[in-house]
Amino acid sequence: MRNVGIIGAGISGLTAAYTLHQANPALALRVFEQSAVAGGKLHTHVANGLTIETGADSFLSRKPGGMELVQALGLADKLQGRQPQHARTYVLRNGALHDLPSGLSGLVPADLGALETSTLLSPAAVARAKQEPSIPAELPEGDMSVAAFMTQRFGADLFESMIEPLLAGIYGGRADLLSLAATFPQLRTIVETHGSLTKGLQAAAPKKVSDVPPFVSFEGGMRTLIDALLAALPENTVAYNTAITTVAQAADGWLLTKADGTQEQVEALIVATAAPVAGRLLAAESAQLEAALQAFPYGSSAIVSLAFEAAEISLPVGYGYVSPRIEGREAIACTWTSQKWAGRAPKDKVLLRLYLGRYGDDVTQKSAADLLTIAQEELQETLNITANPTQQHIQRWRNAIPQLHLGHPQRVAAVQTQLEAYPTLALAGAYFNGVGIPDCIRSGQAAAEKIDSN
Ligand SMILES: Cc1cc2nc3c(=O)[nH]c(=O)nc-3n(C[C@H](O)[C@H](O)[C@H](O)COP(=O)(O)OP(=O)(O)OC[C@H]3O[C@@H](n4cnc5c(N)ncnc54)[C@H](O)[C@@H]3O)c2cc1C
Repeated sequence: MRNVGIIGAGISGLTAAYTLHQANPALALRVFEQSAVAGGKLHTHVANGLTIETGADSFLSRKPGGMELVQALGLADKLQGRQPQHARTYVLRNGALHDLPSGLSGLVPADLGALETSTLLSPAAVARAKQEPSIPAELPEGDMSVAAFMTQRFGADLFESMIEPLLAGIYGGRADLLSLAATFPQLRTIVETHGSLTKGLQAAAPKKVSDVPPFVSFEGGMRTLIDALLAALPENTVAYNTAITTVAQAADGWLLTKADGTQEQVEALIVATAAPVAGRLLAAESAQLEAALQAFPYGSSAIVSLAFEAAEISLPVGYGYVSPRIEGREAIACTWTSQKWAGRAPKDKVLLRLYLGRYGDDVTQKSAADLLTIAQEELQETLNITANPTQQHIQRWRNAIPQLHLGHPQRVAAVQTQLEAYPTLALAGAYFNGVGIPDCIRSGQAAAEKIDSN
């Protein structure tokens, strides 16, 4: 094979390009990107000394894929963990901020004793959660929702106050629709093996203490990762401002039609966009593949970043808070960016970030003025901030986060089945292994490996 086309210069598409280039430097690669910049949902906006993440702000270091790429790109010395002096996270409940209980293993309260000191949970909620080791494992055949599973293990109160907002911070979604098999299959396995989550986690070998913090970003923000991938590719690999409108199989490869009507042919193709976009691009080629790709539900969100004069506001020590669905607020989370990460704002400024939009409510339809009002009201009600921001940035992400709802593994399998007919076509993106950056990296690598082996 002499050349490969890749549609989409997000983390999935760029990782696919990087993987192919490493395996075969002679291969001609062309990444088609509709916008003027690469990175997709990894976008760092720098203005007036502020470093604003308009999309993802970090990734989980223990998930396979991410750290390996960081090492390969020589970025280890640019990694940044959260500022330890602010190590505190809150949950909004009944309008007040409560410490997130300690002893969490991922989403799971592995240390049930630690719940007793929590002001977030009522004594009855703690008493119910502490029964977890003796609650019988009632696991239906097949899949179940994360909400049903966690409620069975720890009770509804703990689930709604603590686990649901943490899940919403990842998916912006509905935990009662989220597939356990697609999101946290290992938790089901623990219960099947040990009869209890907490017993299973305690029985597990103690985790090696890692030097790498659990959540990582980079000096300069997530943009650093995208810039390093671009630098590792031959110059002019990415064709910017080049939207592809359709793709069709040609005699020896794929014919891509661009928005300006011109065409380009490649021998093999990786489509690294959101699933519905990939479906539309491939619609003329295969109605079945299109239907399989259109079946993935997506959620929309908006990120409102606001800077304030440090002298005009005061924040508790911490990284920010999450807000449970039962609080009935539009903000899912509020990150105190300049306390969470070093070097994101000048000393005399405070940078805050609000994550708005729950699944089912398309927040991107709201005007900038409305989004700003929602953000400011949220800050006033929860943090008593009445000062005017000195700078603001609003980013809407329409149909941006795939929802790994019940039936997700079957939806992925349906796409894979359709793809079998196309040895020179691969797909990558957040709808395969998961929405996190390491998941996307692995999907890009898998797509590159498929193309490289054919
Ligand atoms: C608000 C928000 C916060 C998040 N926070 C985190 C976080 O903190 N940690 C984490 O791990 N994950 C986070 N995620 C998830 C993660 O950022 C995404 O899942 C991941 O970045 C998706 O990467 P991708 O390359 O698959 O897709 P994208 O980033 O969407 O990239 C696809 C690219 O394809 C381009 N494109 C689309 N259509 C065409 C076309 N027709 N022709 C040419 N180009 C096209 C787009 O312009 C885009 O650049 C967050 C997501 C959002 C929306």
